[in-house]
Amino acid sequence: MEVTKATAALPRKAVSLRRTSLTRNVVVLICCLGILAWLLLDILQERTTAEAASREWHGQFEQDAARQRARIKHSVATFFETAQYLAGHSALRQRVQDWQSGSDAVTPRVSLWQPNWLARIESLDGSIAINFAAVYGRNRERLAIYHKQQRPLPAVLEIAADVGMLQVATQQPQIVSIRNVPFLIAAFPVQDGMNEVTGTLLIASSVDNGFLQRIIGPDPRRTASGLLLGDGQKPVAVSSSRLAEAFAEKKVGREGRFSLVANELLLESEHAPGLRHALWIDEEFVSRSNAPYVFSVRQQRLFIILLFSLLCLTVVARIAVRIEKIHRKVDGYARRLGITLLPDSSHGDQIDHLKRHLERMSEEVIAETYALEYQAQHDNLTNLPNRSLLFERMEVALQNAQDDNEPLALCIMDLDQFKEINDTLGHHIGDRLLQEVARRLASVLRRTDTVSRLGGDEFAALLPGADHQRAKAICRKIIAAMERPIKVENLRLRIGISIGIALCPEHGGDGNLLLQHADVAMYEAKRKALGFCFYMAERDEHSISRLGLAGELSDAINQNQLMLEYQPMVDIKTGKIFCVEALVRWSHPEYGCIPPEEFISAAEQTGVIRPLTLWVMDRALEQSRSWQRAGIDLKISVNLSVRSLQDRKLPDQVQKLIDRYNIDPGRVILEITESAIMSDPLSARRVMRRLSNMGFILSIDDFGTGYSSLAYLKQLPVDEIKIDKSFVTQMDSEENDAVIVRATIDLAHNLGLKVVAEGVESTDVWDLLEMLGCDTAQGFFIRKPVGPHELTDWIRSREWEQERWVKPMGAAI
Ligand code: C2E
Ligand code: CA
Ligand code: CA
Repeated sequence: MEVTKATAALPRKAVSLRRTSLTRNVVVLICCLGILAWLLLDILQERTTAEAASREWHGQFEQDAARQRARIKHSVATFFETAQYLAGHSALRQRVQDWQSGSDAVTPRVSLWQPNWLARIESLDGSIAINFAAVYGRNRERLAIYHKQQRPLPAVLEIAADVGMLQVATQQPQIVSIRNVPFLIAAFPVQDGMNEVTGTLLIASSVDNGFLQRIIGPDPRRTASGLLLGDGQKPVAVSSSRLAEAFAEKKVGREGRFSLVANELLLESEHAPGLRHALWIDEEFVSRSNAPYVFSVRQQRLFIILLFSLLCLTVVARIAVRIEKIHRKVDGYARRLGITLLPDSSHGDQIDHLKRHLERMSEEVIAETYALEYQAQHDNLTNLPNRSLLFERMEVALQNAQDDNEPLALCIMDLDQFKEINDTLGHHIGDRLLQEVARRLASVLRRTDTVSRLGGDEFAALLPGADHQRAKAICRKIIAAMERPIKVENLRLRIGISIGIALCPEHGGDGNLLLQHADVAMYEAKRKALGFCFYMAERDEHSISRLGLAGELSDAINQNQLMLEYQPMVDIKTGKIFCVEALVRWSHPEYGCIPPEEFISAAEQTGVIRPLTLWVMDRALEQSRSWQRAGIDLKISVNLSVRSLQDRKLPDQVQKLIDRYNIDPGRVILEITESAIMSDPLSARRVMRRLSNMGFILSIDDFGTGYSSLAYLKQLPVDEIKIDKSFVTQMDSEENDAVIVRATIDLAHNLGLKVVAEGVESTDVWDLLEMLGCDTAQGFFIRKPVGPHELTDWIRSREWEQERWVKPMGAAI
C-alpha cells in the first residue's frame, strides 16, 4: 500500500515542478525587457543628453573664442603702436643721428639690459613683452640691438638680416619663424627734426606660452586655447598645461579629451606664415559638468520603467485570474460532456494548458459529432444506413443517373413471417436474425450499392446502374442468400423475403415515387408469394387515386378547398382556454370532407407539404390576429410534418408570416411529432434550434409513440410534450396507460417541460389528469375541433360563466 502511494506521489511532484505559471513567466519576461529597455534608453539618452549639453555649451565656447581673439588682436595692434611710439622717442632720434654722423661711437651697440635709446621696454598695454629691439640706418645697416639674455643672439641677427621683412613690418605686425621659433615683429621709421627718415626701429616678441597667457590671462576650465602658425596642426603656444599634456599624449581630436571648436586666422602675411587662434573644449570637464543632469534623467527613466512594469504585472495578474476562471469553466463543460481532461503533465503555463484542454475538448466534440452523425444516419441494430441516408444517397444517385443517362433500381425488401418469429422466439432472436439478414444482404451487393434498413423487417437496396436484367439477377442472389438457414443460438431459422423493384426512369424519376412504387411491387410479390416483382402501374390500384388526390391537393390549396378547424386546449389548474390547435380539413368537391390523415402523407410524398404547411400557418396566424383584435386572448398551435423539419427554408418563410401579421412568436406553439424527430434527428435538431431561437414554443406531439427517451428530447430546444391520445383516452380504465401517463408527467416536470394530454374524452380522465398534475388538456370532452366562428361564439358564451366550465362541457360533446 505504502509503495503504491509513494510511486503515485512521484509523477505529481514532477508535474508540479515542470508546470510554470504564467505570472512567473511574465514577471521574468518583463524584468528582462525592463532591463533591456533601460539599457537601450540609457545609451540613447546619454548620447542625446551629451549632444544637448554640448549644444548649450557651444554658445559659450564661441563667446570664449571671440573674446580671446579680440584680446589678441588688440594686443598685437597695441604692439604695433608701441613701435611707432618708441620710434618717435627723442632719445632714439638723437641716437640715430649721432650713430649716423659718427659722433656717438662709444655707446654700446649691443645691450642685454634696457638700452637708454628706448623709452620703455614695455608695449603700451604691457600684455606683450618686447624681447628684442633693433635700430637700422638709412641703408638698412644695423645700428644697435637690444635683446633679452635668454634669447640667443643669432636669432635676432637673423631677423635684422631680413631687410625685406623690415620693410613689411613697418606696414603691419608680422609673424616670422626662425628655427621653428615664431616671433611677432613690428617696425617703424625713425625721423630727424626735419622729418627726414634716418632709420628704422624694429621690436620683436617671441610667440610662446607666456606670450599667450599674458594676453588672454587664465582660460576658463572648460576650454583651452592655442596659437598656430600657418596651417599647422600643433600649436606654437598653448594657454594651459592640460592642453600641452594632451598634445603630448595625443589626446586631442575627435575621440580625445580635447576637441576643436574654433580655429580662426588672426594675422595674415604674404611673406610669412599667418597666425591662427584655436579653441579646444575639455570634454572631460564638460561631461563632468553634465553628470548630475544625466543622473537625474536616468532616475526619472528608471522610475517610469518601474511604473510601467508594475502596470504590466497588474494587467498580467488580472489576465491570469481570468484565464484560470475560463480554465475552470472549460473543465466544467468537459465534465458535463463526459470528457476526461487528463491532469496536465507537460510543459507550459496556464495558456498552454488551456489551449491543450480546448484542443482536447474540440477533438472530443468533433469525434462525438461524427459519431452522432453516423448514429443519425445509421440503424443501431444492423449498422446499415437508415432511411434518411438512403434518401440522401438516392438523391445523388438519381442526379448521376440523369446526368449519365444510366438506369437505376430501387428494391424494397420485407421478411416473410418475421412477426411470428419475433412474437414466438422473442425480440433478441428477432434482432439477431435481422443482423444476419443485413450481413447477407450487404455481402451480395456491390460497394457502390446501398443497403438500408427502413425499420422493422423492412430493407431497401439502391442499385445505381442496374437495369431490368441486373436488378433481376441481384434479386435472385438475395433470395438465394436467404435460403440458407440462419443459425441463432441453437436454432436454425429459415426466413423468406419479398422484394419489390422500381426502376428509374420507367417507374419514376424521384425518390419518393420510386420508394412508393417499389413498396407497391413488394406487396404484390408478398401477396402472390413471387419472391420478387417489378412495379406495374396497371396493377397499382391505389396509385392513380392516391396520386390523383395528391395532384389535386396542390390545386385545392389555391382553390380554397382547404379550411382550418380549431380545437381548444385548457389549463387544467385554472380551467381557462388559453390555446387552440389548428387542424386542417379538405372539403373535396367530389369526396366531401377528407380527414388530414388521408392526405397529409400524400402531401409529404409529393412535396405539396411545404405550400400546405405555409397555407395552414398563414391562415392560423391571420385568425390569431383577428382574435387578438376581438379581445380574445388565445395562443395558437400548428402542426409541422416530418418534411417541414427537413426543410431548411421553413424558418425564414415562417418568419415572413410572423412579420406580416405582427404576431409574437412566443404565442405560437409548433407541434412536431416524436417520430418526425427520430426519423432524421440531425436535420430536425437544426431546424428546431432555429425555430426556438426565433421565439416559438416547441411541443412534441404524439409523445410515447416514437420510442424516444425524454432524456434525449431534453437535449432539443423543447418546451412541452403532448402525450399521445392512445395513452390518455382510456387511462381511467387501463391501468398500464395510467402508469405510463403518470411516469411521463413526473419525468417531464422534473426536466422542466410542460405536459399536455390529448384525447381527453371523459370527466374521469380529466379528474385523473388533474390529480397527476398534468398542465393542459385537449379532447372531445372539452370540445371537438370546430370552425373559427363557432369557436368564437362558444368562447364568448362561456365568458359570463363564473364557475369552471369544464363540467357543463361534458354535455356539450
Ligand atoms: P394530432 O396532431 O395528434 O391532432 C389531434 C387529432 O386528434 C385530431 O385529429 C383531433 O380531431 C383528434 N382528437 C382531438 N381530441 C380527441 C379526442 O378526445 N379523442 C379522439 N379520439 N381524437 C381526438 P385530426 O384533426 O383528424 O388530425 C389528425 C392528424 O392529422 C393530427 O394529429 C395531425 O398529426 C395531422 N394534422 C392535422 N392538421 C394538420 C396540419 O395542418 N399539418 C400537418 N402537418 N398535420 C396535420
Ligand atoms: Ca397535433
Ligand atoms: Ca397528437
